[in-house]
Amino acid sequence: MKYIGAHVSISGGAENAPENAEKIGARAFAMFTRNQRRWKSPPLSAQNITRFRKRCKDAGFDPKHILPHDSYLINLGHPEQEGLEKSRDAFFDEMQRCEQLGLQYLNFHPGSHLNKLAPEHCLDRIAQSIDLALEQTTGVAAVIENTAGQGTNLGYRFEHLARIVSQVTDNTRVGVCLDTCHLHGAGYDIRTKSACEKTMEEFDRIVGIGFLTAMHLNDSKKDFGSRVDRHESIGKGELGMAPFDFIMNDARFDDMPLVLETPDDTLWEKEIRLLYDLIR
Ligand SMILES: [Zn+2]
Ligand SMILES: [Zn+2]
Repeated sequence: MKYIGAHVSISGGAENAPENAEKIGARAFAMFTRNQRRWKSPPLSAQNITRFRKRCKDAGFDPKHILPHDSYLINLGHPEQEGLEKSRDAFFDEMQRCEQLGLQYLNFHPGSHLNKLAPEHCLDRIAQSIDLALEQTTGVAAVIENTAGQGTNLGYRFEHLARIVSQVTDNTRVGVCLDTCHLHGAGYDIRTKSACEKTMEEFDRIVGIGFLTAMHLNDSKKDFGSRVDRHESIGKGELGMAPFDFIMNDARFDDMPLVLETPDDTLWEKEIRLLYDLIR
């Protein structure tokens, strides 16, 4: 069974996310747990929490199909002490929010070396940051997203993801989310069925298919291997429909959140239906 949704708004409170997802015919969704552009946000209230949990239950959303995303400010591999501590504190806060909401994943971009740290040291630092957060929380897994490799962002090679995953102490609480737009930007070809097969084989060989926890379904405005991250609506960019057809008809993507982060939210309902219609 496929669980498709989109990254929905939490405007007015986290408890509004399930309804926003339900309205567009989603069976899964992603969300922020707080204002993603600020370092600090007020804690979730008891009311936010009980309402969120109840609405998820009423609408039939299982926590394993909900993929919260952390703030874009956080850099778990920050080269400088101050930035690193700030990021680690914020990440811990987000993990706690997920715990409170009864969620089991926190999706994030690994981090950036900012040209001040060797990439491999930055990756090791990211793994340490994940360990610190996991030690202080229970039940929430860290879900690392592959990136397009824009600027000094790491995580655009499967080797980067593998290096982080292999160093996390509790490997039952670490996973990977693959973003189709980022794969394309990073130079992993998914434009045909055979290219998809090859890319997934490589992922399995280097990281391990068992770590695949979620997918972000986005087309790309930019060329193959451009290392630029610009999402496009499904079927309107450089990817075409082949990768989405592949994902919808492959059991390796069953029972996990498959989340749209496409730019035009007025199309989400249509895009979700379009994706479900690809299932043969
Ligand atoms: Zn993504
Ligand atoms: Zn992106």
